[in-house]
Amino acid sequence: MSQNIRIVLVNTTHPGNIGAVARAMKNMNLSELHLVAPKFFPHEEAITRSSGATDLLDNAVVHASLSEAISDCHLVVGTSARGRHIPWPLVNPRELAGIVSSAAADTRVAIVFGREDRGLTNDELQLCHQHVHIPANPDFCSLNVAAAVQVISYELRMASLYAAGAREDQPQWGTPWDIELAENAELERMFEHLEQTLVDIEFLDPENPRQLMPRLRRLFLRAVPDKVEVNVLRGILKAVQKRISG
Ligand code: SAH
Repeated sequence: MSQNIRIVLVNTTHPGNIGAVARAMKNMNLSELHLVAPKFFPHEEAITRSSGATDLLDNAVVHASLSEAISDCHLVVGTSARGRHIPWPLVNPRELAGIVSSAAADTRVAIVFGREDRGLTNDELQLCHQHVHIPANPDFCSLNVAAAVQVISYELRMASLYAAGAREDQPQWGTPWDIELAENAELERMFEHLEQTLVDIEFLDPENPRQLMPRLRRLFLRAVPDKVEVNVLRGILKAVQKRISG
């Protein structure tokens, strides 16, 4: 399973943290490191703090934007040290690991980590199906970003070791999903189409959008739609647009 889990770091300021993340990942047998506009990279400090996990640094993929880093992912999870304005499906690292280890083997998962000083923006968090919070001391709940990666990747590893054991001992229950999940880029196109249609039918006022799109994003993302479901929804939107233009 480790091949399909990517750790995405957004706008990391301290290159030492990137190295510490690479080390934490390699300890837990994760290998895909993606960096969104890091402040300094490559950097000597990253190499030092990686303690030899330099292969992850060498293979790290650098992106200009978060949407580019996750566009081909089926399941996108955002990490957050604190609650946000609009509540979102929230799990702890152990629950996340359960979800990831029960997903189909070829599901591409992105786990997104924020800036050292202010985490992820609301817009970035609203790209995600789920949020994960490490239930730390409520009075002191913000971990160093590499420490947060360590905690979450440890839980992913424990779940994958357990799942491997369970597979040997007993047949798996249930059936796998029949259709591949929609990728982030397909979902984003659907949200654009939905927003445009809602403007066209004058349900959404672009001058005063309020929280309508965040709420609709949350509704659809909570369902984790597959490719066929996204096509059906877009077909409905197309029919609505055809009807109002004719
Ligand atoms: N002051 C920032 C905290 C940034 S900590 C804020 O209020 O959001 C840097 C990153 O580490 C976060 O963006 C998140 O990715 C991760 N992180 C830190 N503490 C965490 C926690 N308790 N649960 C989940 N992720 C956490």
